[in-house]
Amino acid sequence: MKLDFSDTALAFQHAAPADLRRARLLFGVLASPALVAAGKSLSLWALKWRLPVKGLIRATVFRQFCGGETVAESRPAIQRLWNAKVGSILDYSVEGQTTDAAFDQTVEVALQTLALAAHEPGLSLGVFKMTGIAPHELLEKMTEGSALNAEEEAQLSRVRARIRRMAQFAAKSGRTLMIDAEETWIQGAIDQLAREAMMEFNRERLVIMTTIQCYRVGRTAQLQADLAHATDHGYYFGVKLVRGAYMEKERDRAAAMGYPSPIQPDKAGTDAEYDACLRLAIDALGTPENPGHVGVVIGTHNEESTQLGVDLLGAQGWNPGDAPVWFAQLYGMSDFISFILGHHGFRVAKYLPFGPIVNVMPYLLRRAEENTSVAGQTGRELMMLRKEAARRANR
Ligand SMILES: Cc1cc2nc3c(=O)[nH]c(=O)nc-3n(C[C@H](O)[C@H](O)[C@H](O)COP(=O)(O)OP(=O)(O)OC[C@H]3O[C@@H](n4cnc5c(N)ncnc54)[C@H](O)[C@@H]3O)c2cc1C
Repeated sequence: MKLDFSDTALAFQHAAPADLRRARLLFGVLASPALVAAGKSLSLWALKWRLPVKGLIRATVFRQFCGGETVAESRPAIQRLWNAKVGSILDYSVEGQTTDAAFDQTVEVALQTLALAAHEPGLSLGVFKMTGIAPHELLEKMTEGSALNAEEEAQLSRVRARIRRMAQFAAKSGRTLMIDAEETWIQGAIDQLAREAMMEFNRERLVIMTTIQCYRVGRTAQLQADLAHATDHGYYFGVKLVRGAYMEKERDRAAAMGYPSPIQPDKAGTDAEYDACLRLAIDALGTPENPGHVGVVIGTHNEESTQLGVDLLGAQGWNPGDAPVWFAQLYGMSDFISFILGHHGFRVAKYLPFGPIVNVMPYLLRRAEENTSVAGQTGRELMMLRKEAARRANR
């Protein structure tokens, strides 16, 4: 099936004129590196000094990229998406926490979202970040392979208990919980904890999913090894495939510390790795008559990758929506992909971040920088928004 991503009438069917205007203005601003840099410094400075900028942030980037400050506030967005057959992945986007109290709070909120998910259609996937429930230094030490002291061992036990609480809840409520991927210097620990959780909870079905970032070299081999491990140890393997969100940070750190960059040398390299991983994962999915014990989330805003996923599923005999495969985009971005997929019956969901404005700032700044630094994304959004505005003007 060939998807027509240029059908903006379908893609923006639920966008009110004011939404379209806001999005066009915002992506226009995001296209300018100078404006983004100035906005970033100003907003962080103003928030630090408690200047009244929250209203401005709320009406602009927050409104575009987040559901609300709480789960309850996010419900209209969930409903609006589900009206177009697009699910939501509620994402408590509070990052960089440091205390046990804050980590426990993240778990509580995750449990609340899972409880809501159990009663609402379109919320079959949940997600969390390991840095929301574990100290960064601990993850870094584990990734380096350093021995942990007694206090760190105790911290690790608490982290495992938090993961277990969320996984048990997801298992009970029939939901699937994804673990996001983060920076390479903590990712070894995240991979280890994700594998432990999959081995424990994925015996009968897909409860936990891990993430692979294809901008890293050697990910196809990693995925192959992961699939073999799952087969050998008799558990379901779930993977979200993404390109990766920390490219500049990764390259800067590698250059500053004098080790080879873990990132592909160029975009073409990342694209090739993504395609290879996607082929491998869909191949492992098997056919409707002979399915494998695998689930896949195709997390991308890239039209070619999305079409490749659709083609591979079709080639293996899967009807849209039948395979344990979800396409996923971020809220506020690439609606022209999400709504077209939903329209054709594919499983598709948007990450819907929520949380107090001050705490979701790292997430918002990443979105702003991504839309500035990554050639193509903003252009794509703007082109589609302008096309739809012109179509409506000429009606
Ligand atoms: C549902 C969902 C979940 C996500 N979860 C995570 C997560 O857990 N962890 C995470 O890190 N990110 C995550 N992301 C973000 C993702 O990694 C990408 O940053 C983002 O989706 C852009 O990639 P793309 O495939 O959508 O689009 P594209 O525009 O095709 O690709 C852009 C990406 O290509 C890569 N790239 C760009 N230029 C170069 C270059 N010169 N050399 C090498 N590579 C290059 C970068 O990864 C860049 O982000 C998620 C995204 C989505 C949609």
